[in-house]
Amino acid sequence: MQGIRSFIKTFLLWELLQGLWVTLKNLFRPKTTLNYPEEKTPQSPRFRGLHALRRYPNGEERCIACKLCEAVCPALAITIDSGVGADGTRRTTRYDIDLFKCIYCGFCEEACPVDAIVETRVLEYHMEHRGENIMTKDKLLAVGERFEPVIAADRAADARYR
Ligand code: SF4
Ligand code: SF4
Repeated sequence: MQGIRSFIKTFLLWELLQGLWVTLKNLFRPKTTLNYPEEKTPQSPRFRGLHALRRYPNGEERCIACKLCEAVCPALAITIDSGVGADGTRRTTRYDIDLFKCIYCGFCEEACPVDAIVETRVLEYHMEHRGENIMTKDKLLAVGERFEPVIAADRAADARYR
């Protein structure tokens, strides 16, 4: 009996018909794919992309070189050296993030007491040369200056959950 059933299924190409039926069922359903990069998926204000260092509105660096972010980073991706600034405050003389080590966990921004280090919504970046994976302090500050309006809006939207 089993052999006859198997023969009939083979003769009617039963598995093929089953596959075509699945295709037919999904043909007119709403599509879940996007034409990236022209179309983008919605992003959360908590999106953890490329890092940035922020400044206060008067231009002063927020970072006070407390090194909490360096201590909490599970990937040991952050390297900080500190010194005394011209105004007598403690400042970083070196702030590097190795993007090859970073796992984008967000612990650094959670640990920062002054909202200096943040992760932006930027996800489209790449490296072409050796060493470009190191985000230096200047590069991090430049990202922060460029995206400060979005960063500030995202922090404000998420403030009541922090
Ligand atoms: S996101 Fe996580 S892994 Fe990356 S630098 Fe911050 S703490 Fe380290
Ligand atoms: S970024 Fe924040 S946590 Fe890290 S050293 Fe500066 S002030 Fe401290």
